[in-house]
Parts: sequence; structure tokens; C-alpha cells
Amino acid sequence: MATSGVDYMRERAVAFQALRKRLTARYFVPGMALFLIAIAGSLLAIPESVQIVVFLVGFILMTVGAIKYRCPSCDRTPRDGDGIDFNPKSCGNCGAILRWPNEV
Ligand SMILES: [Zn+2]
Repeated sequence: MATSGVDYMRERAVAFQALRKRLTARYFVPGMALFLIAIAGSLLAIPESVQIVVFLVGFILMTVGAIKYRCPSCDRTPRDGDGIDFNPKSCGNCGAILRWPNEV
């Protein structure tokens, strides 16, 4: 019984890390890239209207990613104080282990 409980915790942590990787690749990295492009837009001679659109798309990507970024145990966003914890060892809300030792 104890073994299956540990297996369950490990599976949950591995699943969370897979989710975290997927969201980072699909939302957080593209979102940050668009923010940087929007900020650097004046240097790159990008028209202001395009900069605003790029910024908004980046903002939407980050927001959607943050909404999907949830603890598999309590279904709430892992938090670090007031902000989102993007690399949590455990859930700040329910204490579930979210990063298993020796697992990527
Ligand atoms: Zn939780």
C-alpha cells in the first residue's frame, strides 16, 4: 500500500513536470519572445500599432499559459508568495510534491 502511494506521488510530480515543459515551450517562451520584440520594436523600426499587437499576443499567450499551469493535486496555480512559482518543488497550496528527485 505504501509503495502505491509513493508511486502515485511520483507519477503526479512527473506529470506536472511534463505539463510545465509543454506550457513553457508553447506559451511562456513564445510569450516572452513577443514581449521582447514589442519592447525592442522602436529599435527595430516596427510601427507602434504592430508593437501593440505583438505585445497583446504575448500577453494572451502568457495568460493562457498561466491559466493552464495548475497543480495536478489541488488544481490551483503553484504560488511562491505573491507570484507564480515556475519551478516548484512542491505545491504552495496543498503541499503536493511537484518535482521528484532525479526526475526531469
Ligand atoms: Zn496543490
